[in-house]
Amino acid sequence: MESPISYYSTNRNISLEGRPGFKKLVSFKEALIVDLKGKAFPQVAFEVLKKFLENEIGLKGLQSMVKDAYNFPVPLINLKDNRHMLNLGQGPTASFKDFAAQVMARLMEYLRPKDKEITILVATSGDTGSAVGEAFRSLKGFKVYILYPKDEVSQIQKKTLDCIGNNVGALAVDGKFDDCQKLVKSAFADSELDKLNLTSANSINIGRILPQITYYFYAYAQAAKDGEEIIFSVPSGNFGNAFGCELARMMGIPIKKIIIAVNENDAFPKFLETGKYAKVSPSKNCLSNAMNVGNPSNLARFFDIYGGNLDKEGIVHKIPDLKEMSNNLFSASMDDGQTMKAMKEAFENENLILEPHGAVAFAGLNKYLASHYHDGMGDGDAPSIFLETANPGKFPEIVENVLRQKPALPKSLRKMLLRRPNVQCIPNSYEKLKAILLMDHGNH
Ligand SMILES: *Cc1c(COP(=O)(O)O)cnc(C)c1O
Repeated sequence: MESPISYYSTNRNISLEGRPGFKKLVSFKEALIVDLKGKAFPQVAFEVLKKFLENEIGLKGLQSMVKDAYNFPVPLINLKDNRHMLNLGQGPTASFKDFAAQVMARLMEYLRPKDKEITILVATSGDTGSAVGEAFRSLKGFKVYILYPKDEVSQIQKKTLDCIGNNVGALAVDGKFDDCQKLVKSAFADSELDKLNLTSANSINIGRILPQITYYFYAYAQAAKDGEEIIFSVPSGNFGNAFGCELARMMGIPIKKIIIAVNENDAFPKFLETGKYAKVSPSKNCLSNAMNVGNPSNLARFFDIYGGNLDKEGIVHKIPDLKEMSNNLFSASMDDGQTMKAMKEAFENENLILEPHGAVAFAGLNKYLASHYHDGMGDGDAPSIFLETANPGKFPEIVENVLRQKPALPKSLRKMLLRRPNVQCIPNSYEKLKAILLMDHGNH
């Protein structure tokens, strides 16, 4: 059996064959989980990541990497009825994608053969591109291109993509997100680009999953008493974040339920209900735009864990153990009306300003609690945490429309926007992309 670390360094999908081995290798003893109480976030992240990476990186290197990467707050806010909000939107580009991108960039920097320059291509519809670009900004030996659909990102998103600069270039493609993905795929398949050492950074990259395990340990240590079961509600699109939660459960956090909260792209909640999987195609456009995913790419991993098999196209080859799945997972779909209602409720009842992604998780949690705790949400009930995955200041129009409050633009983004834009508009043409890549390469 391969050790988990080799999955990372080859950037392959995690294979959960031999799952007991996985658990044995990386499980946390209960005492160790208790020991995380009161520790700062970078320390907790270090304890978790070292389970996977200590052979490859060395403890000193890993410790300084994590400290350097996580130099922003990760607040856990206590609400009524033993509920909590974990705020993951305080990083450099104001979405939870920073957690993975910041560590992934440093790992790749560490593991890069010193004689090789690496070119990273990312197709993005928003948050991933800015998080990855910002994480690699100014790292020696890396060149990053971010392809985004020029008419499908918000004003702020466009600015945060264009204004990274240095070794990171934005390519505004005259096309849709799918076109951007196709362009990237064509580049990977083109042997004439081998000399560029192309690498992707998409959501199935295992380097992006491991860091997304860390904050579940951190939040659990703060919100739960020793050994107590907890409930997490995760706003989900490609299910990478939710899969991080699933791995945290497999590593030993006593999680009573993972709530996978989705928008109108409801293939998974329908599957849990009916046992039949049908991807949503084309995907639906909702306010929580980072979750507009009709066929979540990390769902195959959930199927695998529960003994099933789902392929990339969304075809089920083997039904997973639905009973066990429903035992551990709950999934709820929220339309835009329910999302906005949740934003209002959070504001009126909890004094929280949420953006749409966090609001979907908040609504999902409340729906679950209302249907599973008939006797109210009293003292005896499990602690629960929903994830706010972006800073509301990244979604000023929606927040202002719904709450009549103008959210502040996060400081890190304000600084970013002062930089000179580094963007080229390109047609939806692979030949044009290839020409740009080869020309830049020639200039080194
Ligand atoms: C990407 C993203 C999500 C969805 O995360 P997945 O891992 O794709 O499920 C939720 N909220 C925000 C703000 C995001 O950027």
